Amino acid sequence: MLISGASVAGPALACWLAHYGYRPTVIEVAPALRGGGYAVDFRGAAHLFVLERMGLREELERRATGGSPMAFIDSRGRQLAAMPPEFAGGELEILRSDLSRILYDHSLYTATATATAASPSASTEYLFGDSLTSLTEAEDGVHVTFERGAPRTFDLVVGADGLHSTVRRLAFGPEEEFVSRLGYYVAGWDLPADASGLAARPLGYSEPGRLASVGRTTRRTGEPGYTGETFCVFASEHELSYDRRDPQSQKKAIAEAYAGGGWRTPELIDTLWAANDFYFDAISRVDVPHWSTGRTVLLGDAAYGATLGGMGTGSAMVGAYVLAGELAMADGDHTKAFARYEQLLRPYVTTCQEGGRHVGEFLAPATREAIDARNASLNDPATIQAMLEQGHTVSAAISLEDYPSLCRR
Ligand SMILES: Cc1cc2nc3c(=O)[nH]c(=O)nc-3n(C[C@H](O)[C@H](O)[C@H](O)COP(=O)(O)OP(=O)(O)OC[C@H]3O[C@@H](n4cnc5c(N)ncnc54)[C@H](O)[C@@H]3O)c2cc1C
Repeated sequence: MLISGASVAGPALACWLAHYGYRPTVIEVAPALRGGGYAVDFRGAAHLFVLERMGLREELERRATGGSPMAFIDSRGRQLAAMPPEFAGGELEILRSDLSRILYDHSLYTATATATAASPSASTEYLFGDSLTSLTEAEDGVHVTFERGAPRTFDLVVGADGLHSTVRRLAFGPEEEFVSRLGYYVAGWDLPADASGLAARPLGYSEPGRLASVGRTTRRTGEPGYTGETFCVFASEHELSYDRRDPQSQKKAIAEAYAGGGWRTPELIDTLWAANDFYFDAISRVDVPHWSTGRTVLLGDAAYGATLGGMGTGSAMVGAYVLAGELAMADGDHTKAFARYEQLLRPYVTTCQEGGRHVGEFLAPATREAIDARNASLNDPATIQAMLEQGHTVSAAISLEDYPSLCRR
């Protein structure tokens, strides 16, 4: 089985497949596991159940970051409202890159139920720095060609290659059919060491239609943190024109969007040009009418992404758990497994995705009045509590089979 993408969904699926005795191959376009980046979170019973069934909860807790608090300030730095750490940080928050590394390690060394000292456990093959170029389905499997490697045939192909999935484009159709922009862009980058004082406290400055914020991700253990980082969200009615493979053209688009910004925005934008750990994309939502076609299936952001606020990480992990469990239960009948996977997961992840619809207007409200209203809601403990509870309810709204017990082989 070939899995495209080695971030969250791909290695999580590989962990489970290895556990059930398969030996998946994972291909990742980046030359190595992608490092750096932002923190992602888990919240609610379903996410934690999956982490526990994987035996990873303790390890993740050891690497956990301290949540994502933010004080919203005015142009003179005076606090107007505060977002508690668990609001964006959930019950367990971790750098996406740490999560990816843990899943990767685990997928290499997963002990299968059938493994013995004489017969080593099935595991995962990783191919870095390559990408699929074509998929052709035939009786015996899917013939796959690659940018670099020699063609191969796999029984099944899984697209776990994110919002801009190549598998989805090759097997389902052009990205425009499945990905809708939600009217906002998100950017993040690391601050240089000499500017890290800017991020001594997590602060967010809102002007109509744009948020400029700084923070510093630290581990709960108090391990020395990183230099600071920025997180920016801005509205744009029109699709911006920039080259997705050219960071300089993206940085130019961001600088233009923040021109004339108050507070320390000019200082922040000055740090953009030298940033290495840089992220920029339109806040988008993925809707694919059917997640599988023949022997190819989509998982995680490729199937049901919602850049921010849609619990994408938890949904990717729950999805991997269900897809692998259904494949193991179906005993080779991938059609049955894909159908069950979609039937069980779709209502759940569609509700989770809905959170992504409002994240832009929450972080970068369009008017001064809307900024004041957002700040007033953050200053109301009852509203915060209700929002947190709603997040928990949504993220727990799936009843999961205990596949590892059902599939003992
Ligand atoms: C700034 C930001 C903050 C976020 N915060 C949170 C949060 O707090 N909580 C949360 O739950 N979620 C959060 N998310 C969303 C979360 O990151 C995703 O939902 C999650 O990473 C989805 O995992 P995935 O493996 O499906 O996709 P991705 O993490 O996008 O990984 C896709 C992988 O596929 C690889 N790839 C792409 N193209 C190819 C190709 N052609 N061939 C091979 N490999 C390829 C990529 O390099 C990447 O490694 C955030 C996202 C962003 C951008």
